[in-house]
Amino acid sequence: MTEAQFRTPKGTHDILPEDNRYMTYIKKAVRHRARQAGYQRIDTPLFERRDIFERGIGEHTDIVEKELFLVSSPHAEDGEYAFALRPEFTAGICRSYIEHSMDQLPQPVEFYSIGPLFRHDRPQKGRYRQFHQCNLEVIGLKDPSIDAQLIQVVSKIFGDLQILDRLTLQINNIGMAENRQAYIAALREYFIGKERNLPDSDRQRLETNPLRLLDSKEEDTQILLKSAPTLDQFLSDESKEYHQTVLEYLDTLGIPYEQNPGLVRGLDYYTQTVFEFWDQHTGSQNAVGGGGRYDGLIELLGGKPTPGIGFAGGMERIIWHMKEADIPAPHKDQVDVFVAQLGPEAKKQCLLLISQLRDRGVHTLGALGEASLKSQMRHADKFGAKFALLMGQMEVKEGTIILRDMAAGKQQHVSFDEAIPTVIKLLGEKNLDTYSIKDALGYVDADT
Ligand code: AMP
Repeated sequence: MTEAQFRTPKGTHDILPEDNRYMTYIKKAVRHRARQAGYQRIDTPLFERRDIFERGIGEHTDIVEKELFLVSSPHAEDGEYAFALRPEFTAGICRSYIEHSMDQLPQPVEFYSIGPLFRHDRPQKGRYRQFHQCNLEVIGLKDPSIDAQLIQVVSKIFGDLQILDRLTLQINNIGMAENRQAYIAALREYFIGKERNLPDSDRQRLETNPLRLLDSKEEDTQILLKSAPTLDQFLSDESKEYHQTVLEYLDTLGIPYEQNPGLVRGLDYYTQTVFEFWDQHTGSQNAVGGGGRYDGLIELLGGKPTPGIGFAGGMERIIWHMKEADIPAPHKDQVDVFVAQLGPEAKKQCLLLISQLRDRGVHTLGALGEASLKSQMRHADKFGAKFALLMGQMEVKEGTIILRDMAAGKQQHVSFDEAIPTVIKLLGEKNLDTYSIKDALGYVDADT
């Protein structure tokens, strides 16, 4: 095999600098809104014991049945395929909550995460085998105001990214596990004798995960469902009241929503509140994100009964929406100065100059190869540099350097010692990239 044949594996993609600018921008928005609301960052391993996902997400869900990337190695000590790449964040984070006894911390604990997930999905537009999510979780306390506030944080993030008006919030309450058991029994009963009219895939779902029939895309299924019992008939008064209060709080916070009795979400662990942000035009096919309550999950994974609610948004789909809406991702990747030189002495002086410019926060590239000044200037142009500094043998002798304004096409000689202050003045102090690690300590008491 020649190297030219190597490509990214099916369903994966390189995140090239242009998309990384979007990634960084989205991460900043997530971090900012999450921090404002008290969320802290958590990172769990990219792979976990597979039974964490099987037990948590559910054995008969698409994610576990068809899409789990199992991990093995010839040296596996824990048995073949004991691990799986994470297909979502929640189960791993709940495992971590239990493992680190986080029930001892003030509750609720609030986490955010951003990173890659893996699902062996059939690749298609907007569906990858390695994709990225931003994820929020609130664990340890249950109250309708927590659900509403989580949704509000998500809305704020989408608002900051200027895509909120392209989305609709769909919301439902799917009751507690026992409500769903009763409903599933009723649904199975209703379909007795009608199985033949179901498409193959849905006939199987009726066996393994009947709730998924509700969000089936098959027309025949949807027609049959029109006269089937509905989930809300099986909800307890408590769930109904809980739902009404969540909606009331969303109203209070001015967050529009659509009640969607057909929204169930794909995973077993959900209880009560479930929600998704849909593309206004294409609907559920291209949800940008979704989440819900998972009050039984931590117990299922071996912890004490502990409520939780979470949200996951697809980074690739957020980027897609931003591009569709012509929202740029502001970034700081511009080249301020390109330093060109000719001759060994000029090269030495420029090497130092480049380093000093960078230390002052000026984004600086230097052609330190042997090309002619003219071809170096072409380079400066291609990189989109605002200014070029040129130093040949003459300039070395005179102690000067040529400063060229690339856009205006004008140049002037300045004394070598004045080169840095002149460039900084032209760029403007406030445009310098002077972030230092000390800025991270920048929290200042209000009264100091
Ligand atoms: P889920 O919890 O499965 O609804 O996933 C939450 C969000 O992650 C979805 O709304 C999508 O935006 C994104 N997502 C899920 N699966 C994929 C995938 N295979 N490729 C790209 N994005 C995905």
